[in-house]
Amino acid sequence: MSSHQNRAAAKREGAKARLYARRPDIFPRAVDGFYRRLKWAIMAVTLAIYYVTPWLRWDRGPYAPDQAVLIDLARRRFYFFSIEIWPHEFYYVAGLLVMAGIGLFLVTSTVGRAWCGYACPQTVWTDLFLHVERFIDGDRNAQFRLKKAPWGPAKIVRRGAKHGIWLAIGLLTGGAWIFYFADAPTLARALVEGSAAPVAYATIAVLTATTYVFGGLMREQLCIYMCPWPRIQGAMLDERSLIVTYKDWRGEPRGKGLKRDAEAGEKVGDCIDCNACVAVCPTGIDIRDGAQMACITCALCIDACDQMMAKVGRPRGLIDYATLEDCKAEAAGAPPVPIRRTVLRPRTFLYFGLWGAVGLAMVFALGVRPRLDLHVAHDRNPLWVRMADGSIRNGYTVKLRNMESRPRAVTLALEGLPGAAMWGAMQDEGERSTALHFTLPPDRVSEQRIFVRAPAGAGSEDFTFVLSADDGEGGRDRDESKFERPEEQP
Ligand code: SF4
Ligand code: SF4
Repeated sequence: MSSHQNRAAAKREGAKARLYARRPDIFPRAVDGFYRRLKWAIMAVTLAIYYVTPWLRWDRGPYAPDQAVLIDLARRRFYFFSIEIWPHEFYYVAGLLVMAGIGLFLVTSTVGRAWCGYACPQTVWTDLFLHVERFIDGDRNAQFRLKKAPWGPAKIVRRGAKHGIWLAIGLLTGGAWIFYFADAPTLARALVEGSAAPVAYATIAVLTATTYVFGGLMREQLCIYMCPWPRIQGAMLDERSLIVTYKDWRGEPRGKGLKRDAEAGEKVGDCIDCNACVAVCPTGIDIRDGAQMACITCALCIDACDQMMAKVGRPRGLIDYATLEDCKAEAAGAPPVPIRRTVLRPRTFLYFGLWGAVGLAMVFALGVRPRLDLHVAHDRNPLWVRMADGSIRNGYTVKLRNMESRPRAVTLALEGLPGAAMWGAMQDEGERSTALHFTLPPDRVSEQRIFVRAPAGAGSEDFTFVLSADDGEGGRDRDESKFERPEEQP
């Protein structure tokens, strides 16, 4: 074959290859069972947490907002019940993210993709959207029929109602999100009156659109093609991680019903090939093909199959949560590995130990963190000034941070600079003393200009500013500084 013919053949092949797989219609059938009820409960709890949290109040006194959970961008604070995080304490948020990451590893290594199947926002909102779809269009078969039906008044009304409710859920979701960033009742009033900031409306519009598209239109496509987590999990699961498994040694060869098979004299497995497990699957896969990345381990196929097994009088668990180790043992006729061996093993202990250590370190650091903060900067120019009596004066800018939501009386003192005294820029030099007293406003940083005067000497000298709360309640900070003098005596 000439090179021209080769190129033509390659071109024909390329024309056949599809770079984009069209999304198949997936209309999961409704199912009832233990895992479905568990998913209902988790959905109710997670949605309630999301929508209700911004409306919870927490009394922090008259100087701080009373919203229990608030990301106050204007004042650069994060409030979480009795905890208040300042921007310079962002490492606590980083610690929380580290804990979330390790927690995800811990959950995955013990119960597989439980996060994906039960608690991931994409799963929860998609589940909610699917229920709305079933409520409007009917169950799986009715949805297929409606899809094929020509457009007419009934179909237009149903489609309008479904997409309208989806958009309303998206609107509520986007609306709830912005309540985390401002006082919820005030912002709600402003939104209704049309006086909220344009960025609030823009954020709601973007989140409404993303919720509608992700939960209503893309659904399982986001899990299969966009989310990196399934890929990461492939590396994290091991032989003793729980996954949803079809027990092929028990189910194969598939029959069409024990009675019919018995009449036909065939020896078949427990699977009656009813396809119920495929019909209820929200990602449209057949778990009998083996473990797959597209399986989010929602366990609805377990409920569907258990119902079928009950109908044909076979024991439940043809599809079940199991480890690969379990499967091998069961297939060989050995008793299943006890669940405690799945949970209690070095890997889970290691993850739990790390997770607990980070958590304890954060709780300890939060418990002992100072609520007063002191930062001192020496004047650059002039470094020093010689006074009439030969003594030396230095100037400093002192930042005093009161991180409590109440005014605090504090004392600023000098340590390690013999014979020194100080006064504020707003004071007369004659009022100088070894300690200055301030009342700091709540939740604020105060800046003071301070002068320190000390006897003449040779060269610079290290000393310390010490800030302490007058009420003695957990507030003390120190900052090292320098007292500059000329190297030579005059
Ligand atoms: S195969 Fe089963 S567990 Fe996996 S996504 Fe489908 S229904 Fe859920
Ligand atoms: S639901 Fe159970 S019996 Fe029905 S096809 Fe699936 S595995 Fe087989």
